[in-house]
Amino acid sequence: MTIGPERKQGEQEVKKITCYCEEKFDADIPDEVNFDTHPELMASIINGDFMSVTCPKCNKVLKPEYPLKLTGTSEGIDFFFIPELDRSTYSFGKLDYETGSPARIVIGFRELVEKLKIYKEKMDDRCIEVIKYYLLQKAVDSVNNEEADIDIYFMEKKGDTLIFHIEGIKQDAIAVSQIQYEMYDKVMKDIDKKMRTDPFQTFLTPPYVSIKRVYIEK
Ligand SMILES: [Zn+2]
Repeated sequence: MTIGPERKQGEQEVKKITCYCEEKFDADIPDEVNFDTHPELMASIINGDFMSVTCPKCNKVLKPEYPLKLTGTSEGIDFFFIPELDRSTYSFGKLDYETGSPARIVIGFRELVEKLKIYKEKMDDRCIEVIKYYLLQKAVDSVNNEEADIDIYFMEKKGDTLIFHIEGIKQDAIAVSQIQYEMYDKVMKDIDKKMRTDPFQTFLTPPYVSIKRVYIEK
């Protein structure tokens, strides 16, 4: 599958997709989402339907990632989404498209889904990243394999509990971590101080607020 924005003037929304079966077809993929006018797109992104296209020849469902601007006044959303494949290009400051000046940069669909869930709950994503940092530290300390690639995602808020999934501690298994909302309040009280302190300021400074910006050593 070929992933990458087609930047023909005047037909920005039509992307040329090449399937694994080599079939080439055009797909309508938006480069902007406004939750004020299209609130239904929130659920569509979170449940994974958004940007899914079906190959007309082999019927395979493809999920290409394209740069996307996302806004929503009631949730305070002002994001620019960068495809996962452009992660390193972005970190080297070498993207060949404009991101504008969004409040947040989000990289890859999983991060986008996570961020939307946080904003939907009207929570502060910096605070969630700090909690993830503590969880990551604990997870890294608990594994013997120094090469372990551990990922943590906020999944949902259930009553007074925040649920996180931790991947990579054991192969093919997901650890579920439940954190009391009290912890969120505690971190939140301190967030301005954290913004000025290492290592927190490294990953809390906008626009890319993510623990993926820090490497935690065992
Ligand atoms: Zn196909």
